[in-house]
Amino acid sequence: MSDLVSTERIFANEAVDVMDGSVQVNWIKLVWVAGHGLGALAAVVIYPSFAAFVTFLLLTSVTICAGHSVGMHRLLIHRSFNTPKWVEYVLVWLGTLVGMAGPFGMIRAHDMRDWFQRQTICPDHPAHRAQAVKDAFWQICCDYKMRHPPQFQIEHTVAHDPVYHWIERTWMAQQLILVLPLYAVGGIGLVLWGVCLRVFVSLVGHWAIGHYAHRSGHQGWQIDGLPVQGYNLPRWAWISFGESWHSNHHAFPHSARLGVEAGQVDPGYWFVLALARLGLARNIQSPTSQPPRKGLVSAGGILKE
Ligand SMILES: [Zn+2]
Ligand SMILES: [Zn+2]
Repeated sequence: MSDLVSTERIFANEAVDVMDGSVQVNWIKLVWVAGHGLGALAAVVIYPSFAAFVTFLLLTSVTICAGHSVGMHRLLIHRSFNTPKWVEYVLVWLGTLVGMAGPFGMIRAHDMRDWFQRQTICPDHPAHRAQAVKDAFWQICCDYKMRHPPQFQIEHTVAHDPVYHWIERTWMAQQLILVLPLYAVGGIGLVLWGVCLRVFVSLVGHWAIGHYAHRSGHQGWQIDGLPVQGYNLPRWAWISFGESWHSNHHAFPHSARLGVEAGQVDPGYWFVLALARLGLARNIQSPTSQPPRKGLVSAGGILKE
């Protein structure tokens, strides 16, 4: 197809047809989420505890904010700021603890979805077009497999990094680093709250933001000519640490700040600013750091200074 768009890590040739594919169950993902779901149920029903609830909240906040939103998304995937290598490792490791994938798997999942959404037509799976329950099953337990996928290449510095290779190979087992201290302090109940319930809530929460942020909501900007648009979900800003400003992210994918308009709460960006204050983050990209994306049109959005 001649109108295919390539991105930094994805290279499409004539053989690639985005619509020539199907949704297939990923049994490993299915068992992983079902197992954590059962553990989550056991946590709440058999081991209710206020201390365990606080532990769950703390661990979920740290892994989603510092790990998933800042480490995986804004740093590893978009390089929206720079940080010393050891800080990057810690943040990406925290992001792995969210339980979605290792660093390579996360880059691939993010970039493939973004690539699909930049084509002139986009299949239902990466477009989040199915109704909620079906889309949740699709996103959490399935993959969209193309007959002739495009070439996917992670940059050399990441692809050949031995630490990332180790985390990628062992991303599920990385939970054990948390399991041991949790078990020592609070037994099986605390493990179920701090690992199973947290991973289950994180997976479902990630799906929910992705689903609703591609359907409807507020838009400060639009991307002309694309079949899938991003939308802002203001009410979800706190709980997603700023990731729910998804219309903004489609408009300015390179920006470390996702809440780009006045009054848009963005805790993930505040965390990046805190790192900068400590001398651990620099070269922080703003919406205007790079030329506007092709097709970007204002829908009334005004960038905060
Ligand atoms: Zn999107
Ligand atoms: Zn992104």
